Amino acid sequence: MQIIRRVDRLRSAVSLLRRQGGEVALVPTMGALHAGHMQLMREAKQRADHVVASIFVNPMQFGANEDLDAYPRQEEADAAMLSEAGVAILWAPDVDQVYPAGFATNVSVAGVSDGLCGAARPGHFDGVATIVAKLFNQVQPDMALFGEKDYQQLAVIRTMARDLNFGLDIIGVPTVRDADGLALSSRNAYLTSEQRAAAAMLPRAMQAGIAVIEAGGPVGEATRGIEQALLAAGFASVDYVTLADAATLQPMEIADRPARLLVAARIGSTRLIDNMPVNAR
Ligand code: AMP
Repeated sequence: MQIIRRVDRLRSAVSLLRRQGGEVALVPTMGALHAGHMQLMREAKQRADHVVASIFVNPMQFGANEDLDAYPRQEEADAAMLSEAGVAILWAPDVDQVYPAGFATNVSVAGVSDGLCGAARPGHFDGVATIVAKLFNQVQPDMALFGEKDYQQLAVIRTMARDLNFGLDIIGVPTVRDADGLALSSRNAYLTSEQRAAAAMLPRAMQAGIAVIEAGGPVGEATRGIEQALLAAGFASVDYVTLADAATLQPMEIADRPARLLVAARIGSTRLIDNMPVNAR
């Protein structure tokens, strides 16, 4: 596996892969890799002939009071995992390769970026859309893979790729979970063992709420039940518990078409997110 930090070298390495024939898949990450990321790599290997993984902790998608400095960084261990998984290129750009002096461009996807995490984290999805647009232009892959774990992010990227004619396939990969149901996340590393145990209430409460909705119960009752269960389990606060249209992410009062239940809640100062499908009645 080649580890590349400059755009000119990336361009020549990718064209060399292309001359060998076959398709190129891109898997963007912020590193601190876990089994969820590695599932994206496996899926990419199955779908494409060459996999490019990127690691870049993108300052533009962190708010002023967020965890940019504390975000876990472990490039050596990450590189070993990627190499073992058969990744051809690790694109780990220097900051000046991504944000040259005078950088002035912003990619903003209206509507789908606005509610849910977009409301709690102003500017976050502009940061995501901008870096992903840059990664698409830098690597020029045939396809890119993203986790459903970050469901709103996936919707933002699908919209951007369609609107800006990126001409590549966006592939969503189902969330990988721990044995107790908690979605794997690099941020789980912030949890104390007590908090980690309490965090298992997040998927459990969501499943209970989904059972209520799928049985025809009131959506408001189900979402309030989830919020109460999280606070009772020791969560510090709940940002949102929302049933939304699976494609547009517009909030729904009645589950009359394919929907997604999305939750963000804080345990201590760590913000956890999760989402699950809800079947229409
Ligand atoms: P991150 O490094 O957190 O930016 O995540 C990089 C990619 O991995 C994103 O597309 C995430 O949605 C995806 N991802 C993160 N956690 C999981 C998980 N538990 N299951 C599946 N994909 C995930």
